Amino acid sequence: MTAPVLEVKGLSKSFGGVKAIRDLSFQVHPHDILGLIGPNGSGKSTTVNTLAGVHAASAGEIVLDGAHVQTLPEYERVALGLARTFQTARLFPEFTVREQIALGAQVTRRSHPLSSVFAFGRRSAEDEAVAAHVEELLDMTGLRPVAETKTGAISSAQQRFLMIAMALAARPKVVLLDEPAAGLVAHERKELGRLIREIRDSGVAVLVIEHHMGLIMEICTRIVVLNFGAKIAEGAPEEIRNDKAVIDAYLGE
Ligand code: ADP
Ligand code: MG
Repeated sequence: MTAPVLEVKGLSKSFGGVKAIRDLSFQVHPHDILGLIGPNGSGKSTTVNTLAGVHAASAGEIVLDGAHVQTLPEYERVALGLARTFQTARLFPEFTVREQIALGAQVTRRSHPLSSVFAFGRRSAEDEAVAAHVEELLDMTGLRPVAETKTGAISSAQQRFLMIAMALAARPKVVLLDEPAAGLVAHERKELGRLIREIRDSGVAVLVIEHHMGLIMEICTRIVVLNFGAKIAEGAPEEIRNDKAVIDAYLGE
């Protein structure tokens, strides 16, 4: 078995007296699409935010490709290979889609964030590599037709795909997707499922939080189930579907 790209060990997070995550452990391997599910308030968003560095962990370890990152600030975790998307769009409405994707690469770069898009004098080899990667991402995410369109003028579904493209522009080892299917209609969800598989096939592990069980059951290699901040089950989709504790947690919601 390959080494995990992300290892979460005994992670806990309290807000005052509220224990939002309790002693949570799981691993994400390079070829995983790991689903994180659970009823409302079970700690899914807190888990993603603690992994990303928005919240400081109360206890536990976060190991990214062998490096302990639990005390590092958010941007350093991104630079080390842990990228994430947000539940709501965080875009510059006056930027074009192509510029916005290039901006996603800035955290790992030394030169001007947009020098790969605008010709500021001579492009460096690094700029050329970023520009080529942005073109790949435009194709991968289906955003090529709106590459020149301002982000404020594209559909909300396209904005969701754009946020995934931005996260990938940082060349992560693992990407955290926070409810990527929210607001998508059936054919867009299907396209999202295809994209998530393609991301994994390109060598980027995926951790996805999602309410849409159909999508989770279809694309995930493994699923971790949270209830009241604790892991109550972990396994393949078919195991989770038939797990009594999981059925009870959802029926009791
Ligand atoms: P989920 O994403 O699974 O719906 P959350 O992670 O948002 O759950 O919330 C888990 C628990 O932590 C809930 O009881 C919620 O009220 C609490 N919580 C989340 N964020 C905060 C915060 N910033 N301050 C206080 N309590 C919070
Ligand atoms: Mg949430």
